[in-house]
Amino acid sequence: MRILLVEDDRDLSRQVGVALQGAGYVTDTADNGEDAHHLGDTEPYDAVILDLGLPVIDGISVLERWRRDGKTMPVLILTARDRWSEKVAGFDAGADDYLAKPFAMEELLARLRALLRRAGGRATDEIHCGPLRIDTRGARVLLQGSPVRLTSLEYRLLVYLAHQRDSVVSRTELTEHLYSQDFDRDSNTIEVIIGRIRKKIGAERIKTVRGIGYTLISETGA
Ligand code: CA
Repeated sequence: MRILLVEDDRDLSRQVGVALQGAGYVTDTADNGEDAHHLGDTEPYDAVILDLGLPVIDGISVLERWRRDGKTMPVLILTARDRWSEKVAGFDAGADDYLAKPFAMEELLARLRALLRRAGGRATDEIHCGPLRIDTRGARVLLQGSPVRLTSLEYRLLVYLAHQRDSVVSRTELTEHLYSQDFDRDSNTIEVIIGRIRKKIGAERIKTVRGIGYTLISETGA
């Protein structure tokens, strides 16, 4: 899952970035409203963490513009404590959740999981896919009850496929959601990573749809 983190407080941005990375997300960062708007407009994020007090363009305006342009990604706003009017303005502008500063990192991660869960139409942090169980909270994967050791890239790819299980995901889409903006992307590496995951979870679990992409199969005996 790829997250856009918009925060002009450098220390906070770094701390949140580290926490997101540790939780298995890929993150792009922006420290002003203009860059944030541009990134959210042009890159496919799975969720956005948006500070409201930002240089150049404020967070509320950024959010309003995205929503006006039909961008539907979940957005969690970071607000100043005790400013209820800011929260109301944020929700009116199209925010899905808010967190008042200062906050505990665990709460931010929990709220983010909840947003992604809702966006994916799931009721829990666990994704079941045939014999596979993916615990997105603990960033763990179990195959018939036994832990599967995956690299962080393999984990991210599998989670992305699991969110879209039984539908075909193109290599381009995978590339866009697995790597941050400044990464030198090469969609051929996707095939290599898929190969490594297949070795760990069983080749038949991931189907190649020639010329289109990949599907994670959720049925057990199919
Ligand atoms: Ca700020």
